[in-house]
Amino acid sequence: MRITRVAALAAAATLALGITACGGDDAEEGAGAGSKSFAAGSTMERLNKAQAIKIGTKFDQPGFGQKGLSGKPEGFDVEIAKIIVKELGIPEDKIEWIEAPSKVREDVIANGTVDLVAATYTIKDERKERVSFAGPYYEAGQNIMVKKDDSAITGPDSFKDGTKKVCSVTGSTPAEEIKKYVKDVATQLVLFDTYDKCRDALKGGQVDAVTTDNVILLGFIAKDEALFKLTGANFTKEPYGLGVKKEDTAFRNFINDTLEKAFADGSWKKAWDGTAGKFGAELGTAPTVNRY
Ligand code: GLU
Repeated sequence: MRITRVAALAAAATLALGITACGGDDAEEGAGAGSKSFAAGSTMERLNKAQAIKIGTKFDQPGFGQKGLSGKPEGFDVEIAKIIVKELGIPEDKIEWIEAPSKVREDVIANGTVDLVAATYTIKDERKERVSFAGPYYEAGQNIMVKKDDSAITGPDSFKDGTKKVCSVTGSTPAEEIKKYVKDVATQLVLFDTYDKCRDALKGGQVDAVTTDNVILLGFIAKDEALFKLTGANFTKEPYGLGVKKEDTAFRNFINDTLEKAFADGSWKKAWDGTAGKFGAELGTAPTVNRY
């Protein structure tokens, strides 16, 4: 009884003081429950104690999240997620990767299927009604990919004449944005659940273009350089955030702190250089995290 009370008081004191990670060498290795301590009752404490985390990412996007031959996803989003996981004191092999196509991201966060989403996920006010975002950790922009010999499509305005078909993904910001340009949504806009299906439709000639973030398209172009190209300049801003349960402010702050550390210590740049950075997009300077 007495021990229980003492433990409870200690837990309450930890919470009151807002004690978070204790750092140290063990922390650098990022392994082991108890190698770090987190505020009692926090998501960080729960995950560290469980020594397990479920992360939603893409499986079809080269450079950001693509399932490799190892059966594990690879890319910039995956590396960013690993930086967070290390800071939680959880070994990398304890991550369960769950495919999170654009349309399901809010659902899988809200219903607890995943603890975190790292999936080319634009921070958007409408999405903030259901989830919260840490970040941004990168800023992409919407663009258009066409066949290399196409000279008819030069930007979003090219869809205004009603003749060209464009493919995007359900539940994505580019699918919404392009509706402002197409003359007839019903006949011109083709939607799939993943971008690799759009790429295949462009390859097969069923659509004339694919639209989404420039960096996703650059990943496809890198794999098929003889076939595809971008049309022109980006026409939106897509700041990428990490999605967490709505109002989990402590977890969001922890991720934002971890991102700021990664921006400063070179691990953010290293993550980029080894993944999407190989495909021709610029990393730019580190964004300012938005602690809204
Ligand atoms: N960044 C955009 C979004 O979050 C497009 C990429 C995607 O669908 O993942 O909707």
